[in-house]
Amino acid sequence: VYANPGTDGAVMSFESRYDNWIGNQWTPPVKGQYFENPSPINGRTFCEIARSTAEDIDLALDAAHKAAPAWGKTAPAERSLVLLRIADRIEENLEKIAVAESWDNGKAVRETLAADIPLAVDHLRYFAGALRAQQGSISEIDEDTVAYHFHEPLGVVGQIIPWNFPILMAIWKIAPALAAGNAIVLKPAEQTPASILYLISLIGDLLPEGVLNVVNGFGVEAGKPLASSNRIRKIAFTGETTTGRLIMQYASENIIPVTLELGGKSPNIFFDDVLIADDGFRQRALEGFAMFALNQGEVCTCPSRALIQEGIYDDFIELGVERVKHIKQGNPLDTETMMGAQASNDQFEKITSYLSIGKEEGAEVLTGGEILELDGDLAGGYYIKPTVFAGSNKMRIFQEEIFGPVLSVAKFADYNEAMSIANDTLYGLGAGVWSRDGATAYRAGREIQAGRVWTNTYHDYPAHAAFGGYKQSGIGRENHLVMLEHYQQTKNLLVGY
Ligand code: NAD
Repeated sequence: VYANPGTDGAVMSFESRYDNWIGNQWTPPVKGQYFENPSPINGRTFCEIARSTAEDIDLALDAAHKAAPAWGKTAPAERSLVLLRIADRIEENLEKIAVAESWDNGKAVRETLAADIPLAVDHLRYFAGALRAQQGSISEIDEDTVAYHFHEPLGVVGQIIPWNFPILMAIWKIAPALAAGNAIVLKPAEQTPASILYLISLIGDLLPEGVLNVVNGFGVEAGKPLASSNRIRKIAFTGETTTGRLIMQYASENIIPVTLELGGKSPNIFFDDVLIADDGFRQRALEGFAMFALNQGEVCTCPSRALIQEGIYDDFIELGVERVKHIKQGNPLDTETMMGAQASNDQFEKITSYLSIGKEEGAEVLTGGEILELDGDLAGGYYIKPTVFAGSNKMRIFQEEIFGPVLSVAKFADYNEAMSIANDTLYGLGAGVWSRDGATAYRAGREIQAGRVWTNTYHDYPAHAAFGGYKQSGIGRENHLVMLEHYQQTKNLLVGY
């Protein structure tokens, strides 16, 4: 068990107050206001954070504009080296950053240690390499004419992120934008700003002044002036679909590109053959069923709808629910804990309201269905038991994103019915297919309308696999080499000889 930050034996401590990071300086908010930042682990405030407004966004944009031309002209090898140094610095401080992330967000430290922070490191290294491998192109038009295509940075870009994977989401956005040669103004989520600011205190000196600026605050007060500014050349956003709609409206005023990574209601489909043998495949499938509780269910690709073929329905549910009951819940700073606290009180209340909605709609509670009250040091934290409901796809708990540890389970008769239920949603972010038959898994993988379909696995996020949404789950892709081009424009030089 890690000690609470700032107490005896702790691996790290937070400052009691964080300002904005602008032009490599901690800069107080122009209006002098701060907001309180509690830890979801016990509900108590541990630091205060700059509450920024349009004036602070302007200061950050000034710094970014000052930095962008020189940074955009650095050689790819030089930018690559900067990304590698940031990756090394994060890796050297893995434990400290992992504890900071768990304390600020409520997630289990075993995940931040094993997944979130190592993935962020790998992401930086991936783009450090991808950048050096990127090439322009030449089209030979005719004997006397040639068209050269160059990649150029966009200039200054805005980035707005959510609270579910604060550091990973920040790095997913920062790494490709920096690699492509842009200067950045980033706004973290107001629920989880502290771990990112702690990270900046460790890596800030590795970047030239003004290349990366972090401005804190609320959506409408700080996010809107950033997204609607005519001084950015792109806005990249991860968050709710309803907010994504607003971001697109703001961007349309300035005709700038958007990347939108939005919500999901991902189906996880289990075909009959999953249970034919009691072997490793069956175990993996049951693990896959329980994945809805990963990160307390606060994952955009959370497999929140499990569809199970009728021949195995009763047996599979019995085994799956048993697996869910073994999820160890408790202090996020205990390395044995598998499920921690929900990220904020608002989110806790939203999820508990869906527990009531599910019951009112007539769904059957197979396990959970209530909050978990812990005592001692953890009293006042936002804990909810992993919950499995059985119902039908028309119910609100099957159609609306709950963003918590709540699974809705339904039955299907055959392949066609599975596809029709899977695709009966506004969203199209993730999906899972489990079958020992390669042809079924492949066919379903191609037929499901989602940007990422896992077959016979779930919740892997390698940097070199493109990630993004179909339908109302978003526009554009993150990760993968393609991401560099989302942060660049193409210059064509048509030369007559
Ligand atoms: P949210 O939309 O409420 O907030 C996200 C960010 O937008 C925050 O920084 C917030 O301050 C800012 N914001 C809010 N209103 C704004 C406005 N009017 N203008 C500019 N900025 C504004 O989302 P959330 O509740 O923080 O995050 C949860 C959502 O994120 C879920 O829907 C989840 O599915 C989604 N998500 C998607 C992905 C993905 O890759 N597709 C990844 C993680 C989370």
